[in-house]
Amino acid sequence: MTFTNVVQFLEKIAPLANLSKKEVRLLQTPDKVLKAELTVNGKKYPAYRVQFNNARGPYKGGIRYHPEVSEDEVTSLAFWMTIKTAVTDLPFGGAKGGVTVDPKKLSKKELEDLSRAYVRAFYKHLGPETDIPAPDVYTTPEIMGWMLDEYQKLTGKKAPAFITGKPLELGGSKVRDIATALGGVYVLEEAVKKVGLKEKKVAIMGFGNAGMNMAKLLAERGYTIVAVSDSKGGIYDAKGLDVNEIIKVKETKGAVSEYAKADKISNEELLESDCSVLIPSALSGVITNKNAKNIKAKIILELANGPTTREADEILSTRKVLVLPDILANAGGVTVSYFEWVQNKKNESWSEQEVKKKLQEKMVSAFQHIWKEFTDGKKSFRTAAYILALKKIVAAQKNKKRI
Ligand code: GLU
Repeated sequence: MTFTNVVQFLEKIAPLANLSKKEVRLLQTPDKVLKAELTVNGKKYPAYRVQFNNARGPYKGGIRYHPEVSEDEVTSLAFWMTIKTAVTDLPFGGAKGGVTVDPKKLSKKELEDLSRAYVRAFYKHLGPETDIPAPDVYTTPEIMGWMLDEYQKLTGKKAPAFITGKPLELGGSKVRDIATALGGVYVLEEAVKKVGLKEKKVAIMGFGNAGMNMAKLLAERGYTIVAVSDSKGGIYDAKGLDVNEIIKVKETKGAVSEYAKADKISNEELLESDCSVLIPSALSGVITNKNAKNIKAKIILELANGPTTREADEILSTRKVLVLPDILANAGGVTVSYFEWVQNKKNESWSEQEVKKKLQEKMVSAFQHIWKEFTDGKKSFRTAAYILALKKIVAAQKNKKRI
């Protein structure tokens, strides 16, 4: 979604959340847009850090490496982080970073140089109590490790809480690697109970960290995974796919469609396939006014950021399809990032079980609050989530006497 869409959306939703004009304007304005140009091997790459709002705590959000990264996109994503941390009630604000680069075209050495250059460009604005970065699209625990090292060199201090999503041996948290998917599972299980969904046939679009782990976790919990896909296409089997086999195929042959024992389908067909739960986990803007009316799923869990367009959202809402929005569905990642930050600050290391239990509590509690707001029947689940989040941000902002 472009930032213009974000601004329009806020205007539309403002009366429902009883926001004044001044409050809306504030929520439409990022605190700071930081820009730099990073030079690696003589090539220049535009880089951004947008600090959107810190009324509820230090800025928080990942850094993405992608050829399509732009100031506009990073700003929208920073806004979403502000909403996401409020939805899950984490004591953070929202930020996002990005570099316009195709990381697949860089050598490992260049990737490391780029990551260190990013920290050198922005480190004065970052820090454990100021703005805490994390992984996002195409950024990994290893990259977080390089960034931490560069930050510690520049500041001369040990500061593991500067960044989250680190490797375990550098102070990372257990469960962070599967946190986005696991958070989604907890949300989905609550929704399944509320809706009374009997048939648990799942189609998952995207087989990266989030999509693949989601397939694995849901299969373990007795769901039937009928379809999965990646950028090269998808596969379908009404009787259920063998997820572990498909992971092996993906790892060895690079595409899920290389799995021979299922029917091949396109990504578009996957969205309209015969399933009860649809989980877009890759690209944004894939559910549109063209396919929304043909979607058979009763529940859509948005593991990707922004997979549903505004028009599609309205169609789905009229059709009574329950859309569990990205700002809740994929907030497991930032929630375990918060746990990592707390562990680093307290010099603790929590067990896998403890992290999972805390994650479940956070996700279930956020779901329940939104459900209560949603059941008046006047708004979509997404709108209900936004209303609660915006109210929290505005209340914190008021305490700071800024408005
Ligand atoms: N990039 C992830 C997100 O969009 C995680 C952010 C974080 O852990 O701070 O939610």
